[in-house]
Order: sequence, then C-alpha cells, then structure tokens
Amino acid sequence: MKPASFAYHAPASAKEAVELLAELGDGAKVIAGGQSLIPMLALRLAAFEHLIDLRDVPGVRGISGRGGAVFGGAVFGGAVWIGAGTTQAAIGRSALVAAKVPLLARATPLIGHFQIRNRGTIGGSLAHAEAAAEYPAVALTLDAVIETMSPRGERAIPASEFFTGIWSTALEPDELLTGVVFRVRAGRAGFAIEEFSRRPGDFAVAGAAIAIELDDTNEPNPSNLLDPKNPQSTPNLQDSPEPQDPPKPRDPWDARVSRCAIGLFGLGPTPLRASAVEANLIGSLAGDLTAAARAREIGQAAVAGLDSVPSDLHGPAAYRKRVGAALVATAWLRAIREALGEEAEAANG
Ligand SMILES: Cc1cc2nc3c(=O)[nH]c(=O)nc-3n(C[C@H](O)[C@H](O)[C@H](O)COP(=O)(O)OP(=O)(O)OC[C@H]3O[C@@H](n4cnc5c(N)ncnc54)[C@H](O)[C@@H]3O)c2cc1C
Repeated sequence: MKPASFAYHAPASAKEAVELLAELGDGAKVIAGGQSLIPMLALRLAAFEHLIDLRDVPGVRGISGRGGAVFGGAVFGGAVWIGAGTTQAAIGRSALVAAKVPLLARATPLIGHFQIRNRGTIGGSLAHAEAAAEYPAVALTLDAVIETMSPRGERAIPASEFFTGIWSTALEPDELLTGVVFRVRAGRAGFAIEEFSRRPGDFAVAGAAIAIELDDTNEPNPSNLLDPKNPQSTPNLQDSPEPQDPPKPRDPWDARVSRCAIGLFGLGPTPLRASAVEANLIGSLAGDLTAAARAREIGQAAVAGLDSVPSDLHGPAAYRKRVGAALVATAWLRAIREALGEEAEAANG
C-alpha cells in the first residue's frame, strides 16, 4: 500500500518548522527518520496533509557536552546534549555517549536493525513513545530532560512527565522536540539494560534498564542513627563515651546505594519506574545486593504492583511479568557489580 498524498515541507531551521506546525495545524506532522511514521502512513493507519521534514534543520542534530546543567532545581557538574534529529547510529558510534551515558550506548544496538538505526532518530523515538522501545525507557531511567520549542517558547520537560500514555506524550501538536539532556554521573555507578524479544531486531516483549550510583563517603544512612523513640533527634557521634578507633581502610563493598533507578519497558502503556522498590534500596549496603537471590527478590518486587501489563499474541500479562522480573534481576546484578567492580578489584589486588 502507498501513503495518502501529502505536501512536503523542508524547513531550514527549528523556528521555521515550529511556525509551519502552528500554521498548518492538525493536518501537519513532523517527520524525522520516518522509521515509525512511514510504515503507519503506508499502512494507512494515519494520514497527514503536510509532512514537515527535519533533515535540513541543523540546530537539532549533534552530540555535545554541557557544563552546569540544571535538573529539578539542582545544578550538576555536567551533561550530554543530544539533538532530536541525531540518528540512533550516530549515538551508537559516539565515544562521548559511550563514556558519559553508557546506558544509552548499551541500549542502542538493541533497537531494530542497523538500517533502521541509520535513519531513526532519538527525537523520533521519544516522540513516538512506543512503550516497548529502548530510548524512552533509558530517558526515564536516567531522569533525562527533554527540550522542546513551540510558538510559545522553549520548555524543558523531565522524562518522568513526558510519557503520558500509549503513543502519547506531553508534546503539544505545534511543539517540536529539539534535544535531550542526560546528566553525567560522577563517581561510582553501574548501568545495565536487558530485554527479551522473539527475534533479534523486534520490539522487546519486556525489558529492564538499571542505573545505580554508590556514595563516595561510605557514610551510613543518617536515619539509621536516630533515636527510635525520638525520630526528630539529631545523632551526635561526638558524645560517644567509647574511644574512637583510628579509621580503617574502607571496604568498597560497604559502599551504600545513593541513587538507583529501575526502568521497565513493554510492561505497561508507557515506560515505567519501579519507584517504591528504588526507595527501599536507597541507603542499602551495595555488598548486600550482589547475590542472585537478592536480585531475584528485587526483580519480583519491581513487577509485583504492575496492573496494566499488555496481553497480546507475543505473550499474556503474567508471562511478561515473569520475564520482566528475570530481566530486572539480571540487569540489577550487572549494574551493581559494575558499580562495585573497579574498587573491589583494587581492594583485592
Ligand atoms: C522493523 C522495525 C523495527 C524496529 N524496532 C525497534 C526497536 O526494537 N526499538 C525501538 O525503539 N524502535 C524500533 N523501531 C522504531 C525506530 O526506532 C524508529 O526510528 C523510531 O521509533 C522513530 O524514529 P524516527 O526518527 O524514525 O521518527 P519518525 O518515524 O520520523 O517519527 C515518529 C513520530 O515522532 C514524531 N517526531 C519525530 N521527530 C520529532 C521531533 N523532533 N519533534 C516532534 N515530533 C517528532 C513524528 O511526527 C512521528 O509522530 C523499529 C522500526 C522498524 C521499522
């Protein structure tokens, strides 16, 4: 089948693209790599009178480092900006992404086939918002910020607010996704992504992405030191009557989880985070989280509360949940071991 006829527009700037979107209204749609849109048009699942092509818009392509990025009101040391029109293949080849946003680099080869990645873009992947896609889940797991432009100005939308339902996002019809910002994790961190699909290149039946950061101070969670009868009390270690031992060399396996994110895909109408499980893990000793049995518990807990898991010809909801739990467990082990790995090796050596 061929798509219904449409007028083709090739704006030379993001501003021009946004003006066209506003002027042409509901009949217009942005086209980036075309890897999701063209099949939908060709199958006549969708039809638009105007397609606005981003191929000649230079300002929404490229990968660069950024300093002093602002996330949720807090300023962090650095970030990586990726233009919406950057292809998945370019992201897969980027040394900067591999070094600074390893989870994104590791997710990239899982997307379709190389022909698809040569044309498909990160902006298209996020705007299309397929619940089983890798990049939306990675953006959510890494608390990425999605940058947009519309006739009303620019917005920075946290990934946690971007995916609103099946194939739907916080983007307004006249809003262009211009870029994505990923905060660079400093210190000890580990990342992993796992998925299961029927054939290589297919969308995942289920998947899990994990990001773990360990603290650098090795301080226990202060809440553990509070007087249980008076939770408002401030712990005062100075008043201890016992003489203090000189500090011992730090065992890296005693590091604590300062941040962890468990992202799920293919397991709901949007990519999801297992937020309650994450909260329970913060402050835990990393060395207590490396056993396979503990990872299995984390996997089961991560999927336990899911109530909108799809059921289709690729598998019923119960099957997807079992697969999802196993994928979380596998990814968890890889990520926590990576976070501990170098330090543990140094201590042993
Ligand atoms: C056989 C096959 C297998 C695939 N397997 C996978 C897979 O395993 N994992 C996966 O994640 N993807 C997979 N894909 C989809 C692929 O990753 C697409 O590239 C991606 O979903 C869309 O990117 P695109 O640049 O091609 O966007 P397009 O198809 O051009 O656009 C997709 C949607 O996003 C909108 N859009 C695009 N760019 C912008 C923008 N800058 N601002 C606002 N709206 C925008 C468009 O209007 C459209 O609605 C597969 C595709 C095929 C054909």
